[in-house]
Amino acid sequence: MGRVFSGFRPTGKQHIGNYLGVIQNCVSLQDEYDCIYCVVDIHALTTLDSTDALNEDIHEMVLDWLAAGIDPKKCILFVQSHVPKVMELYTLFGMVTPLSWLLRVPTFKEKVKMQPHNVNYGLVGYPILMAADITLYKGEIVPVGGDQLPHLELTREIVRRFNSIYGDVFPEPQAKLASFPSVLGLDGVQKMSKSCNNYIEISAPPEEILRRVMTAVTDPGRKYRSDPGRPEVCNVYNLHKYFTSSRAEEIAAECRAADIGCVDCKRMLAQSISSGLESFRGKRATLVSKPDYVADVIADGARRAEAIAKETMKEVREHMKLL
Ligand code: SF4
Repeated sequence: MGRVFSGFRPTGKQHIGNYLGVIQNCVSLQDEYDCIYCVVDIHALTTLDSTDALNEDIHEMVLDWLAAGIDPKKCILFVQSHVPKVMELYTLFGMVTPLSWLLRVPTFKEKVKMQPHNVNYGLVGYPILMAADITLYKGEIVPVGGDQLPHLELTREIVRRFNSIYGDVFPEPQAKLASFPSVLGLDGVQKMSKSCNNYIEISAPPEEILRRVMTAVTDPGRKYRSDPGRPEVCNVYNLHKYFTSSRAEEIAAECRAADIGCVDCKRMLAQSISSGLESFRGKRATLVSKPDYVADVIADGARRAEAIAKETMKEVREHMKLL
C-alpha cells in the first residue's frame, strides 16, 4: 500500500458537492492505501479574517467526514496544527525554495486580487507549507483534480531541490488524478460552495433539503408547465443523476414530454437526497451523542501523525547537519 496524503480546509458542515466529490473519493481510497487525511487549519489562516469559528468548523467537518465513512481505524485523521513539526519543516523548506518559484504561482496572484487588504506572507509561502504537509508524512500519492497539478509539481520541485542538496530524504509525491464530479450549486451556474450560498448541507434535515431544492434554478427556457423541458441544461436533473440514478432516464423523458412539472421534479429530488443521506444522518446523530468522540479521534490521529513526523524530522536534521 502506498501512502496517500490529502489536506482539506476546515469549512464547517459539508455540502453535497463536497460529499459527491472529495469525501466519497477519500472513503474509497482508505481501503486501497495507507491514508493520512489532514484538516489544514494553518492554511486557513492565510485567508481568514477571524478564527472565532475555526474550532467549530473543524468539529463539524470532522463529524461529517466520520459519519460519511472515513474510518479512523483505516486511516489517520488529524488537524494540521496539532503536529507543530510541520512548521519546522516549512521553515527549512523555505531555505531551499527560490522566491521566484512562489511568485509565479497563479493562485497567489488570484489571492492578491481577492484580498488586497490582507496580502500576508503566508499566502506566498502556501506552496511550501503544502510541500511540508505532504513530505513530513512521506506522502507518496496525492489525490488531485487537474487544476491542482501545478501545486503538486511545485512540491515535487522543492523535494527534488532538497534531496539534491542534502541527500535523498523524501519520495517525490505522485499525483493521483481524481475526476471529482463538478457539482453545480442551486443557481445552476457556479460550483456548489458556501461562499456562493448555493449549497445543500449533507446534515440538513429533510424539510431543509426540500426548502433548498425548491429554490434551485431549472431549465430557463421552460416557462409554463406545458412547455417541454431540456434536462441536459437543468441542474435539478444533474442532481437526479446522482441521487435518483435508477430513474434518471425516465425523468429525462418525462421532462422532455412535459409529463412532469418542475415543482414535482424538485420534490422528487428532495426526497431522493433525503433518503440517500438517511443513513449518514443516523450515523451523524449517533456520533453527536458521544460528545468526546471527535476530540478523541483527532487526538489519536495527532499522536499517530506525530510519531511519523518525529522520525522524518530526525532524518531531516541529520541530513542537514542540524544536530
Ligand atoms: Fe429540470 Fe425536472 Fe423541470 Fe425538467 S422537469 S426542467 S429536469 S426540474
